[in-house]
Amino acid sequence: MIYNIAIDGPAGAGKSTIAKLTAKELGMIYIDTGAMYRAVAYYFDANDIDACDESSAKSACDNIDIDVIYENGVQQIILNGENITPKLRMEAIGKMASKVAKIGCVREKLVDIQRNLAKKESVIMDGRDIGTRVLPDADIKIYLTAGVSVRAKRRYDELAAKDIACDIKEIEEDIKNRDYEDMHRKISPLRQAEDALLIDTSDMDIREVVDRIKSIYEERRNG
Ligand code: C5P
Repeated sequence: MIYNIAIDGPAGAGKSTIAKLTAKELGMIYIDTGAMYRAVAYYFDANDIDACDESSAKSACDNIDIDVIYENGVQQIILNGENITPKLRMEAIGKMASKVAKIGCVREKLVDIQRNLAKKESVIMDGRDIGTRVLPDADIKIYLTAGVSVRAKRRYDELAAKDIACDIKEIEEDIKNRDYEDMHRKISPLRQAEDALLIDTSDMDIREVVDRIKSIYEERRNG
């Protein structure tokens, strides 16, 4: 039987780390929908397309072909035949992703791909509109959040660990701007679904959050 878990929340709340580990422990597939918006952002950036210009955005949409495949259980994004996964985590691409995520045809295209993936397998899918739009009938919906300074510090540590020079204040500002853009856009803004469970991870470590989600899963399956 197919079982779907939706995890939404703002940038840097730990969604991907938590979803990835929980999926592994529950034997489910992890789907990172942010990577799909990042892939579209990468295409816009590489081809110098203005996300605010409706007609260029529309023709870009028609020229984008995104495929999601798994290599050793790790999601890979194929954009027009090229595996661009290693190029997607940069902050600049994340910022651009928030801009392309406002475009209707981009969302329609990606939501279709996401729903098809969830129809075929049991998945844990993370993003901004999974519980509200992509999988409104998901078996479990979680809204994962944390204070903005905590989220900035986590992003900073992640980049510092990779020896990427960064400024924590700048990261905090970027996160605030991205929260604003994601929560105030017209189409599918980020918000907690009415039936989603709120988990504030500010004072929790990864293990505690994963265990919390797994216990919700066990309760629902047994109840
Ligand atoms: O989660 P991540 O930081 O990779 O997402 C990048 C951007 O893609 C987000 O800031 C958001 O604007 C957009 N996004 C979205 N809907 C999703 C996933 C991501 O709008 N389901």
